[in-house]
Amino acid sequence: RSGFVAIVGRPNVGKSTFMNYVIGQKIAIMSNVPQTTRNKIRGIYTTDEEQIIFIDTPGIHKAHNKLGDYMVQSSLSTLNEVDAIMFMVAANEERGAGDNFIIEHLKQVNKPVYLIINKIDLINPNKMLEIMDTYKDALDWKEVVPISATQGNNVSELMDTLSKQL
Ligand code: GDP
Ligand code: MG
Repeated sequence: RSGFVAIVGRPNVGKSTFMNYVIGQKIAIMSNVPQTTRNKIRGIYTTDEEQIIFIDTPGIHKAHNKLGDYMVQSSLSTLNEVDAIMFMVAANEERGAGDNFIIEHLKQVNKPVYLIINKIDLINPNKMLEIMDTYKDALDWKEVVPISATQGNNVSELMDTLSKQL
């Protein structure tokens, strides 16, 4: 089985760290595509059973000009071509306008969206339900998955979950 998974989320939530962790674990390819490329394949996760191609989708933030508008549209069309979407947030940061902007756009995309709550190593586990609650009704999440991309907590479970979507 193989398929495409897009990762979206505001800056600094840990998208690149996650990708490096996953790709570093299993033999894979990191592309050298320059940052200027709008939608790029960043890494391919491969096991005997599956291949997941992760796509960084950086363009979904409030546009200030025509080019920005174009980037948003371009990112959205990428999201329409993948098998699943990971929307990543950071457990230690409040839900903000940047998150809401992306969520509003995800509503227009008819794909399974996984809410990935990253950086769980930075919070008290007692806070987890409260954090989940702030996002619960924002979108019809396929699943909510807490992880730590630096520690690797729950990442293999996430890969198993994503594989089912391929
Ligand atoms: P991106 O902008 O979404 O790609 O975010 P990065 O992957 O560049 O991460 C931003 C910062 O958050 C870096 O300093 C990472 O080391 C840190 N970071 C990412 N994931 C985790 C995590 O699970 N736990 C902790 N403590 N820090 C993290
Ligand atoms: Mg990054």
